[in-house]
Amino acid sequence: MVFSPLSSLQPRDWHKTIHVRICRKWEFHGSNENGPLQHIDMVLVDNQGNTMYAEIPAKEADKLGPMIQVDRTYVIARFKVCNAKKIFKSVPGPYMLEFTCHTKISAATEQITGPKYIYNLTPFEKLPEFINDTKKFHDILGIITEINEPEWIPFSNQPNPSLRRDIKLTDGCGQEIKMAIWGSKATQFKVPEDPNTEDRPAIVLFTGCLVKYYQENFYVSGYSACHWYINPDIPEAGSLLNRTHGQSYKIKRSGIPIAQQSQPEPPPVPDFLTLQEMEAIDPYEFPATGCRCTVTIVRLVETQNWWYPACNLCKKSCLPEGSSYRCPKCNILDMYTYKYKLPFFASDGTEESEMIAFAAVAQSIVGKPVETVMRSIRNRDNIPPDIAAIISSKFTFSVAMA
Ligand SMILES: [Zn+2]
Repeated sequence: MVFSPLSSLQPRDWHKTIHVRICRKWEFHGSNENGPLQHIDMVLVDNQGNTMYAEIPAKEADKLGPMIQVDRTYVIARFKVCNAKKIFKSVPGPYMLEFTCHTKISAATEQITGPKYIYNLTPFEKLPEFINDTKKFHDILGIITEINEPEWIPFSNQPNPSLRRDIKLTDGCGQEIKMAIWGSKATQFKVPEDPNTEDRPAIVLFTGCLVKYYQENFYVSGYSACHWYINPDIPEAGSLLNRTHGQSYKIKRSGIPIAQQSQPEPPPVPDFLTLQEMEAIDPYEFPATGCRCTVTIVRLVETQNWWYPACNLCKKSCLPEGSSYRCPKCNILDMYTYKYKLPFFASDGTEESEMIAFAAVAQSIVGKPVETVMRSIRNRDNIPPDIAAIISSKFTFSVAMA
């Protein structure tokens, strides 16, 4: 059988067959791991070392997901080649694969053994350039200097707390970075304690990371897309080891094992109020836990934009400057991400109120990421059909006082 190299695939290539190893595979459940599965993600590599990102949509996940295992080689046919996503790119390249109900997957007789690791390192000193930038995932390499036990972290906008494990890495040149690994990945991350090798540097390659900002410092964050390889056999790990000149690195370990920690109580569920009851509350007496209301969206506030360019550092709105945007607070140019700021009037029959839905809440109302909706229209000042379609939909909101 003739297999097509991944680098030769083009949109509308319906009849090609590929021979690939599954280098990474993970599930994406949105910002909450307990949420419904949105898609299964994979990084594929062929025997020429070409890579491509591939996705199994949620509706095909039950059938196709179990047929694919990491580090195994498959012959795959009847897939769709599409334009790569513009955000959260795992590997470079203009296209991605989408598996469909027609996709055929069979275990290959000939295994692809190399390359074992697919990565494109971002040096530590470049990481601050990508704070809150969601265009691509980053891969980093460092020596572990500190590992904390996972901890429960409560979130005001989520019903359940999340697990986070903090670690520290050095690049062997004196620069140290903090990293946070979230959710089930926090408990999965382990570097075995071995008294025979404990002074030898433990080098780790992390793939699929994002750069975040907290209390005026950046840190690297690893969630569902994050994978790691301890002491990987790659040339950069050899150079890193050489830079240490035989220095010993004993990992500092701290924290209480998760089995001995009690999970924090979930925050109290806010009471249901009607809009009329809410309006009647003195702002100073508004419940600290907020409240809930069930309303129907009656119309949009058409005089205001439904999107804004949010500064990657402070999240505030950036101002136009020529064809660029500048954050007036941080005074930086073109470091922004478009976000929703969707104003509308809603009614529950007792009262009509103006509400604003931001970012993730607005995305769950509209059902599409803001970039997708912005791409669908020519003039951004017009109301696109996806936004107009929210009128008459009914939602239960948790409301906070701003
Ligand atoms: Zn800013």
